[in-house]
Amino acid sequence: IQALLAPLKDETGRVVGTIAVLHDLTQIRRLERVRQDFVANVSHELRTPITSVKAMAETLLNGAWKDNAILLRYLRAIDQESDRLSNLINDLLALAKLDSKVEVQREPFDIGELFYEMKERFEPVSGETPYFELNPPAPELPLVFGNRNQIKQVLINLLDNAFKYTPAGGQVRLSAWPEGEMLRVAVADTGVGIPRQDLDRIFERFYRVDKARSREIGGTGLGLSIVKHIVEAHGGKVAVESDINQGSVFSFTIPISKEAAGNPG
Ligand code: ADP
Repeated sequence: IQALLAPLKDETGRVVGTIAVLHDLTQIRRLERVRQDFVANVSHELRTPITSVKAMAETLLNGAWKDNAILLRYLRAIDQESDRLSNLINDLLALAKLDSKVEVQREPFDIGELFYEMKERFEPVSGETPYFELNPPAPELPLVFGNRNQIKQVLINLLDNAFKYTPAGGQVRLSAWPEGEMLRVAVADTGVGIPRQDLDRIFERFYRVDKARSREIGGTGLGLSIVKHIVEAHGGKVAVESDINQGSVFSFTIPISKEAAGNPG
């Protein structure tokens, strides 16, 4: 705690007391540490794929290219690492844009239509399983108030995770229901689940439950922090419930548009 003291004088200049201003620096220090950790994390996450791409390219150039098996394996790895780098850069740019507090346009939009878009986008990647379900049928949903592109990003990030962390045979369900003036949207999966002690932290930037596994699966560790940021900027809240090996339910709220459907103004 930082304290500033100043004498308090009456109109004749006589000292009649003291003013003390106390500054609690813990919050400022905490934010500073979060910022430093973030920069360190970004540098590490950017450097790792570049280092390995460089190493593989050098090995190939030193003659390994003559071995077809090695050539193919390294080219695949280089391709994967480039994807990872490009996902990371996209997420970092998205965060920077959110941090810059540029005004985003918000308006009433049909979230049910977005649900169908998600079904089209994710059904093919789900292959035979996990199974993907919408509930209730999207046309029954009210209009919500927000930025369609950002809410689409939120849904993509949550669904990406649900499919990533749910093994074959599982199920992913996207559903929504009104809660007062808000609509709650939930992505439920029957996947690996999240340990209780990690639940509080998974919305932090770069936080991953299992670094090795997440790296293999190919995440950036930024998806959920982007979700939280967007939802809170819309006046909503994120929530998560999870049980190990049972699955997870990620949900968020978004304001229902006061404009009834088909009745603008
Ligand atoms: P990542 O890119 O690593 O998926 P996120 O910010 O999206 O980063 O998620 C942070 C961590 O939370 C993940 O690494 C994973 O450990 C955990 N997680 C997120 N969604 C799920 C889910 N549906 N099931 C199990 N674990 C999850």
